[in-house]
Amino acid sequence: MDHKLAILPDEYRTASEDELRKRIIARKKQLGEKLVILTHHYQRLEIVDFNDFVGDSYGLSEAASRQEKAEYIVFCGVRFMAEAADILSDDNKKVYLANPTAGCPMANMAGVEEVQESWDYLESVLGPGKIIPLSYINSLATLKAFCGRHGGLICTSSNASTAFDYCFAKKKKLFFFPDQYLGRNTANRKGIPKDKIVMYNPNLKNGGLDPESIERADVILWYGYCHVHTNFKPEHVADVRKKYPDVKVVVHPECREEVVNLADSVGSTSHIVKYVEKAPSGSTIAIGTELNLIYRLAITHPDKKVVNLAGKMCVVCPNMFRTSLHDLCFTLENFDESGLVKVPDDISRDAFVALERMLEVGTED
Ligand code: SF4
Repeated sequence: MDHKLAILPDEYRTASEDELRKRIIARKKQLGEKLVILTHHYQRLEIVDFNDFVGDSYGLSEAASRQEKAEYIVFCGVRFMAEAADILSDDNKKVYLANPTAGCPMANMAGVEEVQESWDYLESVLGPGKIIPLSYINSLATLKAFCGRHGGLICTSSNASTAFDYCFAKKKKLFFFPDQYLGRNTANRKGIPKDKIVMYNPNLKNGGLDPESIERADVILWYGYCHVHTNFKPEHVADVRKKYPDVKVVVHPECREEVVNLADSVGSTSHIVKYVEKAPSGSTIAIGTELNLIYRLAITHPDKKVVNLAGKMCVVCPNMFRTSLHDLCFTLENFDESGLVKVPDDISRDAFVALERMLEVGTED
């Protein structure tokens, strides 16, 4: 991808936040229903303020697929989300990523060439047609297309469990990409025995798996992870329980298995938002996910104590944090090719099949 917007023109870089806010409001008013701004829960507060829809990956994908009147969809999030919006929306809509340099390192951990290599190896052991691919939405469009072509689908953290059911109704083995933790935590939740969950590490010969392990496995995990959520450790849970004996610990399933096992509740960002909304006034809730969401929940629920599970550790996703008011204002005032997200037609067609299956499976939250 060509990221021409790494440096914004001076007019935008030097504008004050007040001025940027006024210009964003004016542009939104001018475009009316032609414009929809989708913001992820992990965006900064001042960006979420301008949302037409705020949500997790599932909710935002669904919102993108429902837009009828909009001509421009501006995504405040990371690239794979804007690609999913482009794939799921009509051809006459233009999707822009407010900061085109915002990517997701986890999505980049499963390139389609190494995935194809792993697939060929597994099929050489098992024979063709024995495995179904399931990819987390945090993946490249080419990997989504791979899943679509091989009878598989996409899931988010809000429907991974039902996506597992979909897969096991079709095949005996599933290959989960790219987040090993969401895959493992979901497999644990489904009661799959530990010796039937194996990991394919693309850095090792044959993924580090011998034929016997592959034959035995129900779930094969790809070796990917989120460098933000893996910061949460079991000692954080112990510390927060010591500090606040009545605390409820709620974590995202991208966290390590050891942390998830110690939590009171586990789920997507939408699940976490609803958990805080429903908690009685006076509750203390420690959250294991990206800091901007924790911060926003603390502000919007002043009657509850909402704290970062990792204490003073700064668990910010640097890519989500990239989108600023400067970027949003520039994007809204300059709908040119530089911020446009366009997935090539052949990839989009196959990826659409996998994403549509995800929407058919629905959400648990
Ligand atoms: S929080 Fe993790 S998974 Fe989400 S965009 Fe950031 S790096 Fe990717």
